[in-house]
Amino acid sequence: MAKVVFSNVTKRFDAETVALQQFTLTIEDGEFMVLVGPSGCGKSTALRLLAGLEDLTEGEIRIDDQIVNQVSPQQRNIAMVFQNYALYPHMTVRDNLAFPLTMKRMPTSIIAEKVEQIAKLLDLSQLLARKPKQLSGGQRQRVAMGRALVRNPSVFLLDEPLSNLDAKLRAKIRADIALLQKRLNKTTLYVTHDQVEAMTLGDSVAVMNHGELQQVGTPEMLYKEPQNIFVARFIGNPGMNIISSTVTRNNESNIVVRIEQQKITLPKISQEGLQKLNQSAFIGIRPEAFNVAQAGHHVALNVKIQSVEYLGHESLVYFQLADAVKHDTNNYLIARFTGQFDTSHAKEAFFVDPTEIYLFDKSGLVI
Ligand code: ATP
Repeated sequence: MAKVVFSNVTKRFDAETVALQQFTLTIEDGEFMVLVGPSGCGKSTALRLLAGLEDLTEGEIRIDDQIVNQVSPQQRNIAMVFQNYALYPHMTVRDNLAFPLTMKRMPTSIIAEKVEQIAKLLDLSQLLARKPKQLSGGQRQRVAMGRALVRNPSVFLLDEPLSNLDAKLRAKIRADIALLQKRLNKTTLYVTHDQVEAMTLGDSVAVMNHGELQQVGTPEMLYKEPQNIFVARFIGNPGMNIISSTVTRNNESNIVVRIEQQKITLPKISQEGLQKLNQSAFIGIRPEAFNVAQAGHHVALNVKIQSVEYLGHESLVYFQLADAVKHDTNNYLIARFTGQFDTSHAKEAFFVDPTEIYLFDKSGLVI
């Protein structure tokens, strides 16, 4: 059992540097939580605070209902894997794996047994006699994970563990880690700046920005129901397109947003949402929500296509709203189409189903 709770945790390094601000997050026993956000948003600080490698300024961290603010790292029974692996270069894989148990002065026979077990689990049995420099990046990574897991920690922390690997290997080890976590059912906190990694790995994903938690939820929730513009843009590859818009109400008190010359009537929104709108708002459209407009589509946006990236299974189309071109030449929107995009559509228009349009207030909160 290991449930982890951050309650209103603030970490101030100095007057200007607030790495974490009133950070509150619960990681349930056995849950795989991914902490994701841009560089410098405080992810590693959250991990280091949980491991006991930094002291917090305000708030509380609990592991299984015990406040651990004053508990030393050794007594927290947490294992951490860093991006540089930190293996001992002069030791064999066997000795690297055994090291945490040797330090605990466990009997040699038990150490040997546990090392065999963990080596088998991580497919390292054939490599036990090698030194780290005789291993590939992926194998070193697995040794680092094995060394962290061998002493059966109650919480497993990983800080950008795949960032030194090439893209193919990253995808493979990502899948291995997800499988391993499911098998071990260990409470895990995994830090990355890569939203693809976050979406493919976590049961739950916590999105951070500037030391503050933006939203926590399943990958699907974050994608379909982003709570603010930051999450809408950060999750998804490419992220959501955000367009500044004016808002009015028609006679049936439906919301009508105006995108350049085009007026789009949106499905009804809540009374509370209505109150938050004050003539202007941001609208959000996922790249995959654009379709090439057919005759009969009343709500079509005139577009000027700038470039097309063909990626094999899909094409990304960079475009501007035709009416916007004259006053804003740098602001591209991105649409995604399956397969190869037919550039003869270049002078045409895109259609968006109004139910796929998101609305955000001026402060960036979803309505
Ligand atoms: P990255 O993805 O680049 O590793 P991160 O999200 O993990 O970034 P942190 O390393 O947690 O971010 O850093 C959060 C903020 O705290 C940054 O502004 C960083 O410069 C600052 N910071 C981190 N460690 C220290 C320290 N020991 N002393 C002072 N400031 C620090």
